[in-house]
Amino acid sequence: MCSRPDGIVIAIDGPSGAGKSTIARLLAERLGYIQIDTGAMYRAAAFLLAAAGVNLGDLAAVENFCRNLDIRLESVSGRQLVRANGKDVTAQIRTPEMSLLTSRVSALKPVREALLKSQQQMGRRGGVVLEGRDIGTVVFPDAEMKFYLSASVEERARRRCDELTSKGEPVTIEETIAGVVERDRQDSERDLAPLRQADDAIPVDSSRLSIEEVLAKMFVMCRNKIDALEPSL
Ligand code: C5P
Repeated sequence: MCSRPDGIVIAIDGPSGAGKSTIARLLAERLGYIQIDTGAMYRAAAFLLAAAGVNLGDLAAVENFCRNLDIRLESVSGRQLVRANGKDVTAQIRTPEMSLLTSRVSALKPVREALLKSQQQMGRRGGVVLEGRDIGTVVFPDAEMKFYLSASVEERARRRCDELTSKGEPVTIEETIAGVVERDRQDSERDLAPLRQADDAIPVDSSRLSIEEVLAKMFVMCRNKIDALEPSL
């Protein structure tokens, strides 16, 4: 039996550009679950800290600022909106500069502590697909289903480059590869909750698979787990 009232917790971790957001959204839709994009929450926190001009080297100031963080993920007509202290920041948090800044900000203890609490609160009833870097290792080590989604650096950079150019952002593949490598380094070398595959996570390499193939594979495993734990759902 599943101990949570609304279903199981599905954790999807992995490096940037592996396809976590797309897969988490489609998987949540298919299962009737809620998607929680924890990367968007870290991006929103970085945006607010930068907008307020908080000195990131001053941990007391960062901690003080984080006391009043109010970051919400809202679903509006099938689109996920990110609201930070009341302001819609969905578009602004997706630039390459914000990606790198977020990677720095997410290494700070007060930021991680503040967001960890709200992520655990948001997911505790189950019926959720959480994606990030430390979901299966730190946020929900007891998640019923854990995946580690990865892909080669070149493939992840190619996807990121396509995504940004389609939005009219002038980026080259070389600078995108450099950004991906730098972010991988910052995320996996930090002391707090580094990017790491949980021992009990199922590895999925999406380099040579289409979104539909990855989704089909993960959906079957989730469905089987849900059926085993909640035969009535
Ligand atoms: O997933 P996304 O690329 O939007 O995440 C942006 C950044 O937020 C990551 O590079 C990482 O530094 C941070 N992050 C994190 N822990 C998470 C999710 C994201 O540290 N659970």
